[in-house]
Amino acid sequence: MERRRKDAKRRALTIHGERIALGETRDLYLPISESYLGRSISIPVRVIRAKKQGPRVFITGTVHGDEISGVGIVRELLFERLPELECGTLICVPAVNVYGLESHSRYLPDRRDLNRCFPGSASGSLSSRLADVVFRSVIKQCDYGIDFHTAAVRRTNYPNVRGDMRDPGVSMLAKAFGMELIVNGAGPSGSLRRSACKAGVPTIILEAGEVWKFEPGVLELGVRGVLNVLRKLHMIAGVPERPLFQVTVNKTTWVRAEHGGILRFHVRPGEFVRKGDYLATNYSIFGREHREIRAESDGIILGMTTMPAVSPGAPVFHLALQSARTLNRIEKELAANKAPSSFDAMREDLATNVSIINR
Ligand SMILES: [Zn+2]
Repeated sequence: MERRRKDAKRRALTIHGERIALGETRDLYLPISESYLGRSISIPVRVIRAKKQGPRVFITGTVHGDEISGVGIVRELLFERLPELECGTLICVPAVNVYGLESHSRYLPDRRDLNRCFPGSASGSLSSRLADVVFRSVIKQCDYGIDFHTAAVRRTNYPNVRGDMRDPGVSMLAKAFGMELIVNGAGPSGSLRRSACKAGVPTIILEAGEVWKFEPGVLELGVRGVLNVLRKLHMIAGVPERPLFQVTVNKTTWVRAEHGGILRFHVRPGEFVRKGDYLATNYSIFGREHREIRAESDGIILGMTTMPAVSPGAPVFHLALQSARTLNRIEKELAANKAPSSFDAMREDLATNVSIINR
């Protein structure tokens, strides 16, 4: 690991044939394909290099074309919040799946999921070629990475960082980023983060909020997370801000509807629940029948549907399993904290998009 980092220090940084020197900031367009009319299709990349050598970090967004939060996070970071780097290099690719961004779609025109195509292949499908260009030009040249995602369409996520915590580099990034919830796992085969880690580039993802939106809370904590990581790597001054609590989640489960109907939600993303708690009520359309949806385990609501009409099997809540003991301990700590917390603010924020009715 140490040796690899030293090698990286010695390496010149060249992206698509352009050499970027220390102290330079450069906007590049990385050609990834051609349109039907033979025009070049390229993705925007900003490279910021400090005068002094140091770690190389990439941040990527919109690998799923409808998950545009990364575009907003990079914008806030670059326009408003990023101080001058003291050392190292930051490579920003806010819109990896430009096709999906333009067509409001998770997928690429060949109907593939780009986040199952990494590390890609120069002689493969359109998706595979795109993945290959990004992987070779950006990801493999870096020491660490952060990839921004949101929940899938018609769902929202309480912001959580995901990564393979067995990898010391990933564990360092995940903790430094500063979210309360860290979901431990290597990620699906072909995903950017799994492939990056396999290539020796520890990478985490942020899963926060909804598709097609710049949610203020999500942008704020995305920016804060990147700054925390840069502080941890001594690329900018300061120490990472710590959340009020931080737990690692090793198992999650979906709570599903058993009957067709209309939902009343009783809990919001980020809420602590105990086995047997009522999470939602499933009503028939005129309310003549109603059935309770209960938690089958103790845990924290990681994500939920924003669509209040369901059929049997529809996923309603994504529950991050935690022991009652852990939940009790955290609740005690939170109760002792008198200052306004970003944890509460975020929960309020996300709950404004869905009707939460106390039972
Ligand atoms: Zn995604």
